[in-house]
Amino acid sequence: MSSEKIHVDHKLPKAIESLLVRLRDGGFEAYVVGGAVRDILIGKEPDDYDVTTSAEPREVIQVFGEKFCHPTGISHGTVTVISEGVPVEVTTFRVDGDYLDFRHPEEVRFTRSLEEDIKRRDFTINALALSPDGTVIDFCGGIKDLERRLLRTVGDPKERFTEDALRILRGLRFASEHGFRIEEETSREMISLKDSLSALSVERIWKEFSRLICGTYCAPVLRRYFDIFTVFLPEIAPMRGFEQHNPHHIFDVWEHTLAAMTYVPPTVVLRTAILFHDIGKPSCFEIGQDGIGHFRGHPKVSAAMADTILTRLKVDTDTRETVILLVKAHDVPLDPLMKNVRRRLAQYGEERVRLLLEVKRADISAHSMKSAYRLSELSSFEVLLDQAIREQQCFSFSSMNVNGKDLIELGIPAGVRIGSIKKQLLNEIIDGNLENEKTALLQRAQAIWKECQQ
Ligand code: ATP
Ligand code: MG
Repeated sequence: MSSEKIHVDHKLPKAIESLLVRLRDGGFEAYVVGGAVRDILIGKEPDDYDVTTSAEPREVIQVFGEKFCHPTGISHGTVTVISEGVPVEVTTFRVDGDYLDFRHPEEVRFTRSLEEDIKRRDFTINALALSPDGTVIDFCGGIKDLERRLLRTVGDPKERFTEDALRILRGLRFASEHGFRIEEETSREMISLKDSLSALSVERIWKEFSRLICGTYCAPVLRRYFDIFTVFLPEIAPMRGFEQHNPHHIFDVWEHTLAAMTYVPPTVVLRTAILFHDIGKPSCFEIGQDGIGHFRGHPKVSAAMADTILTRLKVDTDTRETVILLVKAHDVPLDPLMKNVRRRLAQYGEERVRLLLEVKRADISAHSMKSAYRLSELSSFEVLLDQAIREQQCFSFSSMNVNGKDLIELGIPAGVRIGSIKKQLLNEIIDGNLENEKTALLQRAQAIWKECQQ
């Protein structure tokens, strides 16, 4: 098949350029391939560069020397070469053998043909190769598809998704990140083969899905391909179309969630927390005598469901725990008073209070206009939060100006009492009823101790 060629003016990083040149000087073909070429053509600086070459792994090692090569995935033809101090993945041109289980090729075969290597790739926009002189080689119409912002599989979508179901999620991830339209047949086969996603490992699913929800265009993708996501997130199914019967909520639970997704900054923790913040609503629904819908206790139920889902998907503990906390706390009031700011800081710590502010902002923004006044309360809370941090106000034992030893020196016996007196002192500081100053604290400690003895 003939190839299309165009020229791009793009300066490759030194490490990549010199790696390509050395392979070529060694008598081999070598190109930048995949996502990096796609990104360069749409004017985005690539995050990482993959290199493909006609050299077999042992030949790559011969060119660069064993000291500079790590056989990271040698059976699949990948060697990590340290070029100018930078690790670069170099993969031999290859053809994948038959796929028998929706995910792993039975075998890979090396080839000397770039075209064969290109044809095994998932989407036409990822099936482009770039020479060090700036020539883009296109066997599959990827350049035109990029211009049209169209996502299309290389070859028959049914075949390509049956070989590897992860491509379905990768495709949706690209649509969410870049706003690509998905070609009709590709889209249809994604939906009709959705159940094959259950053959994938949960780690691979989460890796793509966590990137998908951080995309600029995640809401339209989550809306349109909802049924696909219910394969590994069956808990979201009742959210769609669940009317809230409440004047503050103009959307159903799912549409409210999608609106909030676009308001919250695109980090995995925040987007996941928003995705799940109301997932427990359908199971908490009650209609009051006034005809208004209530969802009592839904943050706790949603948090428990988020815990189950994130545990099932083997998401790292830190992400899971932060998400659970944010979901559970998404309805706690953040009233703009300094003592409340200190209380929340004591309860959650600075980082999580800031995340909670983002969650609440997005949640409120996605309600009806009537709720908008609450946004200014959150801004006032944030101003006070900044002030509390700037002034290094006290909200934890570590910043309190007395410690256990000081209290023992006052004559209070070591033991549980010390702990409870310290706690009382801290609460009074947080509430603004006591100054964090040593003499005042010691006096107050003594008074509490006296009261205890009476
Ligand atoms: P990004 O770097 O933004 O994640 P990418 O397209 O570079 O996107 P990688 O996972 O780095 O994604 O993969 C590099 C290239 O390898 C892809 O562009 C594609 O050509 C090919 N590729 C990756 N995964 C698959 C797959 N499951 N099936 C077929 N080809 C794939
Ligand atoms: Mg990549």
